[in-house]
Amino acid sequence: MNTPCCLSCGNADLVSGTMQSTGTINFRPYDVKFMTFRTADIAVSARMCGKCGCITLNGNLEKLKLIQGTDSPEAVTASRSAP
Ligand SMILES: [Zn+2]
Repeated sequence: MNTPCCLSCGNADLVSGTMQSTGTINFRPYDVKFMTFRTADIAVSARMCGKCGCITLNGNLEKLKLIQGTDSPEAVTASRSAP
């Protein structure tokens, strides 16, 4: 597994954390399935470079795959062109 490093300067001294406002910041894909038992919001984590201050964001990849998948019994495709 590759050691994460700063996308700006290449430094490997990254500090992990979250991005915050008055609540948790989530990523929501534009074109997602309608989920009956869970939301389409994906948790976001962050790393800040200890050398230059560059901050990078990462989304929960497993949640994205779950949202995009069609094998989940509670996933129902939301139709954009209603009859
Ligand atoms: Zn850096």
